[in-house]
Amino acid sequence: MITGALTKMSNQLAADNRAHYQLLIGDQQIALNPLLGQSLSLKFAGKIACVGCGRVISKSFQQGYCFPCTQRLAACDLCILKPELCHFAKGTCREPEWALGHCMQPHYVYLANSSGLKVGITRETNVPYRWIDQGATQALLIAKTNSRYVSGLVEVMFKQYVADKTNWRKMLQGDAEPLDLVMIRDQWLPQIMPAIDALRQQNQSAVIDLLPEQTPYQIHYPVLHYPNKVVSLDLAQMTEMSGVLHGIKAQYLLFDKGVINVRKFSGYHVELEV
Ligand SMILES: [Zn+2]
Repeated sequence: MITGALTKMSNQLAADNRAHYQLLIGDQQIALNPLLGQSLSLKFAGKIACVGCGRVISKSFQQGYCFPCTQRLAACDLCILKPELCHFAKGTCREPEWALGHCMQPHYVYLANSSGLKVGITRETNVPYRWIDQGATQALLIAKTNSRYVSGLVEVMFKQYVADKTNWRKMLQGDAEPLDLVMIRDQWLPQIMPAIDALRQQNQSAVIDLLPEQTPYQIHYPVLHYPNKVVSLDLAQMTEMSGVLHGIKAQYLLFDKGVINVRKFSGYHVELEV
């Protein structure tokens, strides 16, 4: 039996475009792809520890934090969800040192296809992991910028044409219809070019390099079959659960009985039997 605190699954993209996942429990890594089609037992061990400070808590916020950590950490600030609100330049960042490594680094603006077309941003070092976390089957890098903030400003320009959200139920019911992301980029980019030029004029430190030579990434997920109806399982209620692993997509484990959003239960102590 493997016991410990759950954290968000890690993933890799293989040369054949297949996503590979590991479940992380404590300091142990469990390769999940080889477990497809097998029966697993996963239980909540009754304890939650904050992923920020390690304190034992009865309820977590923002996918694993205690309430004080949500008020204290830059990783829990509103500007992480809305990067265009980055306030580093005003000197009011909660943790400027952390931001130097996390936000003030090269970022990409991308188009992806998860449950449909979406625009997003990611740190350079999160390509392609970020897309696998979202369950995207296609992704195309559009522009490279010198900070999270500048990527966020470009993302906002795209949002008038393209959604920035994934319909997770739809994403878990099958692969999205393939899209021609290059054609979509070539359709929308000229529309936002005046705004990009204006931003370059207005903010001399903003670097925005367009990436016209990029071709889309393709991602295939380890899924034997998708559920007809998505039933969301609550790990906190799972004192006894065994089920057959039908697949892994985004941060979800797809069992015959329902799906578990692993990231949502970061910090939950679990017991796994394979
Ligand atoms: Zn905490």
